[in-house]
Amino acid sequence: ARAWSLKARPQGMPQHTDFAMITIPDRPLAAGEVRIANRWLSVDPYMRGRMNDVKSYVPPFVLGEPMQGGAVGEIVESNADGFAVGDKVQHMMGWRDEAVVPAAQVQKLPAIDVPEQAFLGQLGMPGMTGYFGLTEVAAAKSGDVVFVSAAAGAVGSTVVQIAKARGMTVIGSAGGADKCDWVRSLGADAVVDYKAGVPVVKALGEALKTVGADGIDVYFDNVGGEHLDAALAHARMRARFAVCGMIEVYNSGAATELRYLARLIGNRIQIRGFIVSDYMDRQADFVRDMGALVAAGTLKREETVHDGLDAMPDAFLGLFSGGNRGKMLVRV
Ligand code: NDP
Repeated sequence: ARAWSLKARPQGMPQHTDFAMITIPDRPLAAGEVRIANRWLSVDPYMRGRMNDVKSYVPPFVLGEPMQGGAVGEIVESNADGFAVGDKVQHMMGWRDEAVVPAAQVQKLPAIDVPEQAFLGQLGMPGMTGYFGLTEVAAAKSGDVVFVSAAAGAVGSTVVQIAKARGMTVIGSAGGADKCDWVRSLGADAVVDYKAGVPVVKALGEALKTVGADGIDVYFDNVGGEHLDAALAHARMRARFAVCGMIEVYNSGAATELRYLARLIGNRIQIRGFIVSDYMDRQADFVRDMGALVAAGTLKREETVHDGLDAMPDAFLGLFSGGNRGKMLVRV
C-alpha cells in the first residue's frame, strides 16, 4: 500500500516538501483485523495541529510514519467476526490507499440512502460538529440571529442549513462573491464577504441592518481573529458563542488582538469551546436526525473532490486558501 507521511514539521503554511509518499509493506491479517480498500479520504483543518510537536487533544503525527485521518472504504479481506468482504466502512486510517485495521476501530456505514462519502462530511465528523455546536454548545433556538464564519465550508454550510431549518435568522461569512452567493442559496438571510476589503466588523453591521436586527444572539466561530472580534462587537445581551475552530491562526500561531473583548462583561456574553468528540455518545441520534434530512434532500450536500492519493497534499493545503465549497475530499 502507499501512504502519505509527514517528512518535516511545517513552519507556518505547510509546503509540499513537508510531505512524502511511503510504501507500507503488505502483511497477512492478524486475528480481528480487516483489510480495507479506501475509496474516500478526508482532509480537515485540525490535521494542521497534528503536524506540530505539541500536546493537544489528538497526538502529533509521527515523522516518517503514515498519517491518519477519516476514510471510507470497502473491506477486501476479513479476519474478524461480523465483518465481511464487500462491507462499506469508515475508520481513521486515512492518507493511504489501503489500510489494515483492527475491526474494533472500524464502523460499518449506517444503512441510509446517501452516497458513501457523505459519512465524511454532513453525516460524519463535520456534520456532527455543526449540529451539536449549534444546538447544544450555543443552545441556538428559533428566532435567534446566528452569525457563522467559514459558512461555505463543511461545518459552516451545515450550520447555515440546520439554523434555517430550525427557524433562525442566519448571516454567513465566506471569502469571495461566488462563495457568498452559494451561502445565500443555502438559505442564509445575509452574507459577509470578508475578502471584499471591508472590515468584518463593518460588513457584519451592514448585514445586520439588512435583516432588521440590532445584533447577534449566537456566533458559531470557525475562524477566530477578526471574525471573533466582529462578533463580540455586535453581540446582543447574553449572546452565546460556540468556538469550534480558529483557522485564521492555525498557520501563524498568532491571534489577532481582540479590540472588543471587554464586551464580554457588559453584554454577559458566554463563550464556550468544544470538541465534537464530546458528543460521541449521541452519534446515533445525530445520524438518525440528520440522515433523514440529507436523504430527503432537505439539506444540500456539496463536496470539492480531488482525484487520486497523489493529490492529497493539494487538497489539504486548499483548506487554507479557501479551495473548497462544502466538504474537501480525496477520491482514491
Ligand atoms: P472548511 O470546509 O470550512 O474549510 C476551511 C475553510 O476555512 C476554507 O474553505 C476557507 O473558506 C476558510 N478559511 C481558511 N483560512 C481562512 C482565514 N485565514 N480566514 C477566514 N477563513 C479562512 O473546514 P471544516 O468545515 O472542516 O472546519 C471548519 C472549522 O471547524 C475549522 O476551524 C476546524 O478546525 C473546525 N472544526 C472543529 C471541530 C471541533 O470538534 N471543535 C471539528 C471539525 C472542525 P473561505 O474561502 O470562506 O475563506
